[in-house]
Amino acid sequence: MTEYETIIGLETHIQLNTTTKVFCSCKADSWFDPPNSNICPVCCGLPGVLPVLNKAVVEKGVLLARAMHAEIRPLSYFDRKNYFYPDLPKGYQISQFDQSLAKGGYLDLPVPASASPDKQPYTRRVTIWKLHIEEDAGKTKTGNQRRFIDFNRCGVPLVEMVTGPDLRTADEAAQYLMRLRQLLRWIGISEADMEKAHLRCDANVSIRVKGEMKLNPKTEIKNVNSIDAVREAIAREIERQIREVEAGNRIEAWTLEWDEDSGTLKKMRSKETEADYRYFREPDLLPIRLSKEWKNEILADFPELPLARRARFVEQYNLPEYDADILTSERKLSDYYENTVLAYGGDPKKVSNWLMNDVLRMINDQGLNPEEMKLTPAALAEILQLVDKGTININTGKSLLQKVQDSGRTPGQIVADEGLGLVSDDSAIRAVCEELLAESPNEVANYKAGKVTLIGWFVGGVMKKMRGKADAALARKILEELLN
Ligand SMILES: [Zn+2]
Repeated sequence: MTEYETIIGLETHIQLNTTTKVFCSCKADSWFDPPNSNICPVCCGLPGVLPVLNKAVVEKGVLLARAMHAEIRPLSYFDRKNYFYPDLPKGYQISQFDQSLAKGGYLDLPVPASASPDKQPYTRRVTIWKLHIEEDAGKTKTGNQRRFIDFNRCGVPLVEMVTGPDLRTADEAAQYLMRLRQLLRWIGISEADMEKAHLRCDANVSIRVKGEMKLNPKTEIKNVNSIDAVREAIAREIERQIREVEAGNRIEAWTLEWDEDSGTLKKMRSKETEADYRYFREPDLLPIRLSKEWKNEILADFPELPLARRARFVEQYNLPEYDADILTSERKLSDYYENTVLAYGGDPKKVSNWLMNDVLRMINDQGLNPEEMKLTPAALAEILQLVDKGTININTGKSLLQKVQDSGRTPGQIVADEGLGLVSDDSAIRAVCEELLAESPNEVANYKAGKVTLIGWFVGGVMKKMRGKADAALARKILEELLN
């Protein structure tokens, strides 16, 4: 049987989270606004208006270029991409062509065992072919034999980023998008919510017989708006291409549209080639001059990136990769973890267990922001220390999480105010043990008759009487002493 290899390249459009649009002062994000409510003569391209570049767009573009290890050009230009479409009132889109903001770059993509064909994790280097700034076009909607146009998205700032044909499976494509989304949120340049079109993805897919070097005609899949749908659509298209080739047919360079409802690909109009766009320099805008000073200012607080931090957590704190992956899923969470480890001074894995189970559940259930929680890293560290010292038991420690979060009091204060400290006073526990045994003649008789497993029941009884605050080990010792 012939073995095939799949070649996938992804084209992403990333909506930058600036307040205003790229060339005018209209509000950029109008996801929740009525159609045509955030528009002006500039973004609608009325005659006689001039675009003015939003500096924040350049700054966010530079951050992304840096994160992708791309070369940042000190001088870059805007170009007009000419095409006619009803949702493009100017008749052209302002974009960047040959001298764009960034050149080259890559992302080293960790592919986990769960997404690997032979169940072994590996790393795939994904090269970046294009990274440039551009404006978005409007949106058309057909219905009731009419066509409606919403210009709200005209002039919304985008970065278009195109990968080389480096991805080999539908799972790798999905992993790439997950890591890209994580990275965009981490460096704070986009909400990267695919459902709200903050992150859009087109996929180029072709196949070849394994071992061959030449690239075959590819199809382009458009209109996929979730990571699962991208994985699904690519997998379907690979199957289709293999079927066609096996049947002796040629693959034609179609543009396909993913239909979410039916889970099928439909053929769209044929794609225009690059030459059809008649690119030329945008005469109404100056080139972007990125001085050394400005660039340094933009990159001054550039953070450690998620994959690097993940590797460091494994190395420095001896965490399993699974923990490190979850703890670095978001920047604020990873900061919270590390600050707790530093405040605590004990076993970092213990912090990870508490955080991933109980604290993360609180954060998710209550929609909390790790940065603004009353249960600060210092408070969580204090709870862990109180448990370590034996001042409180684990259950009390866990109940403190919500109490601290609700009241803002320190764990130590709550333990003192509510008398939650463990009773390890021998005579106090002994009195309760004696009381319990006097009340339970049947159990005592059974125990003495050989049913020694009843010891657990006795310990439980003492704990209940002392509202969970007895030192359980000590209670057990005293009970055994009294019973024997
Ligand atoms: Zn406008």
